[in-house]
Amino acid sequence: MDTQNKGILVMVEWDGKTPPTTWYSRLHGMGLWVRGNKDTSPIERRACNAGVVYQEGSIIVKSESLAHTLASMAYSMGAKTVSLGSFAVDTFYMSPTDQAALEKISTAWSRRGPKSHEDEGIYTITCTEQAATFEVDLREKPMTCPDCGSLAIQWRRGIRRNVQPRTAKESAFDFWAGTRFIGIAYEIPNVDLDGETHLPPTGLNEQAQAVEKFYATLPQYVKDSNIELVARVLDIAYSLQSASRERRIAVRLAALNEYYASGGDKTFAVNPSTAIDLVDVAGIDGRLVAAL
Ligand SMILES: [Zn+2]
Repeated sequence: MDTQNKGILVMVEWDGKTPPTTWYSRLHGMGLWVRGNKDTSPIERRACNAGVVYQEGSIIVKSESLAHTLASMAYSMGAKTVSLGSFAVDTFYMSPTDQAALEKISTAWSRRGPKSHEDEGIYTITCTEQAATFEVDLREKPMTCPDCGSLAIQWRRGIRRNVQPRTAKESAFDFWAGTRFIGIAYEIPNVDLDGETHLPPTGLNEQAQAVEKFYATLPQYVKDSNIELVARVLDIAYSLQSASRERRIAVRLAALNEYYASGGDKTFAVNPSTAIDLVDVAGIDGRLVAAL
């Protein structure tokens, strides 16, 4: 992706009020037209102009200083809140993962007939994108994560599993592996004194073996942190192995951005390797940035 495709979104919330007419005339003065200048095609508008006003309160520009000027201008004209965000603007191509997700959803929709009650009930859904498990009461079989809407989910009927807390003899890894694979599929259980007892892990799948290797590389003080944090770290390491390369890079950049912003000066590769490392995990759980 080249930096030419960087977009900066300026989001202005006028809190129900109409922005002053000077707002629009200033925008026009800077070459920003509501929905772009109609004399050019949408592609040209996005490619050639300094930016484009997509909707009343959302302006996408390329220049950081222009974004800041617009934000300050909006505040001075009475906007309630102004937010800035930057992102990569890229033509969308369907990846094999996207294709599979689309097929899954198309098949599910084509099967939908008159509402039956047989699918109503409690489901336990594990979202591989967020490395999180949810228990939800649904009218029909789940298709997406109830929290983030991702299609990368596994589900089963029934309530979320409850397991006993870690025992004094158990390593954090053994607790993690011993509690995530009790059923057929990977699932993150609740931890409860009334929960089921768990056994030492056996026959770990390939992804879990990779997590074991990753665990061995963790600094001792991270391994000794509270078990919730360590288990979360291992859950993230597990889930990231099925992430796309684009997502891996984005996650690593998020971690490094925070690391350097907080004064860190070590060097890390942005390029993800097959093995998961702390940079990957820190990009999802910011608490790990301090461990880099
Ligand atoms: Zn999710």
